[in-house]
Amino acid sequence: MSYQILNGQLVSQEIKQFIKDQVFQQVAEGKKRPHLAALIVGDDGASHTYVNAKVKDCEAMGFSSTLRQLPASCTEEEVLAIIEEFNHDDDIDGFIVQLPLPDHISVQKVTDAIAPEKDVDGFHPVNIGKMSKNLPSYVSATPLGILKLLEAYKIPTKGRHVVVVGRSHIVGSPMSILMGRNDYPGNATVTLTHRHTQNLASFTSQADILIVAVGIPSFITSDMVKDGATVIDVGITRVPDETKKSGFRLVGDVDFNSVAPKCAFITPVPGGVGPMTRAGLMYNTWLASQGNIFAQRVDNTFLNT
Ligand code: NAP
Repeated sequence: MSYQILNGQLVSQEIKQFIKDQVFQQVAEGKKRPHLAALIVGDDGASHTYVNAKVKDCEAMGFSSTLRQLPASCTEEEVLAIIEEFNHDDDIDGFIVQLPLPDHISVQKVTDAIAPEKDVDGFHPVNIGKMSKNLPSYVSATPLGILKLLEAYKIPTKGRHVVVVGRSHIVGSPMSILMGRNDYPGNATVTLTHRHTQNLASFTSQADILIVAVGIPSFITSDMVKDGATVIDVGITRVPDETKKSGFRLVGDVDFNSVAPKCAFITPVPGGVGPMTRAGLMYNTWLASQGNIFAQRVDNTFLNT
């Protein structure tokens, strides 16, 4: 079967261009630029790479950005104090605390301390609750990016069987809720699977749309996928590769070479969900700059313009 690549690079460019145009217009009208702040704790290499990429995205789109760093040895109180400062800084529209955090800092406490209206990562329980009820809210960047990708390629979801592998709070769990909502993309019959799922392949092989967020390279093999399926590979693992300048390459959770020929649509790694996630955060920050998210009618139609 010939398959089509779901090109996250291309679609994310469209989204970023839309945001850039909007910012250009609002600045021309004398309004302030969207402002994203980020707090990073410790010196995890991947986290620094991700945050630097977010700062670059801000620059490219005409946003202001603020980057604060704390050493891994800092206290939870120091982290909470910066969150408090960001919560009360009227110039900052939205902010993120880059995960993972050192073990002595509670992710739950940190997430709960972020003002929901500035929680552009969409991790606060208020945003998750509102998302579940299909109310205006910040949908976290990776699930939002996946929705936008499905939308951009007009992948039908109503009545389809979506199987999600992995139930993390940032990807699998929200994805399963979103695909079951009475909306597009959504209205699917959803199966959420995890480590304790028995005979995983019996579920994945029924999926019209298979969304995989596990973090194990080549976890999904061709025998686990139905002919004609749409496969969304969220996984990103760095594997050593001496031929690369960086010394590593990025691989997904799906064994692309064997799975792709069975698919109708599939995301590559890199170039699939990753760039959509980056665009998702910028989109949320731009939304934040438009006023209180909870009072907004979120207009998601820009991709069709
Ligand atoms: P996570 O928090 O580690 O969650 C992994 C999930 O996979 C868990 O729910 C776990 O189940 C499940 N799992 C592990 N082994 C399994 C097995 N043998 N069978 C079925 N399920 C299994 O990971 P995450 O944060 O969701 O990230 C997953 C991957 O996506 C990582 O590679 C990450 O780097 C990548 N990611 C990419 C993006 C992007 O922008 N492309 C964004 C976020 C994450 P239990 O809950 O039962 O333990």
